[in-house]
Amino acid sequence: MDERFCNCCGKKLGKRSEEDALEVIKEWGYFSGKDLERHAFILCEGCYDKWIGTFVRPVKKSEVTEAM
Ligand SMILES: [Zn+2]
Repeated sequence: MDERFCNCCGKKLGKRSEEDALEVIKEWGYFSGKDLERHAFILCEGCYDKWIGTFVRPVKKSEVTEAM
């Protein structure tokens, strides 16, 4: 499997089962400036925390009852 790196700080991440991270895949549609481009990035937990710390409206949090 491909190695995973944080796109923001470049840190090498462990396997999915060892180290959790935010993995985003976004397919931009016609009504964006990116016209059908697929963007993907990974953020480590530290960079995720820094990022959401800049949000004006906080992230919605709820408890996960069934761990995957
Ligand atoms: Zn990072």
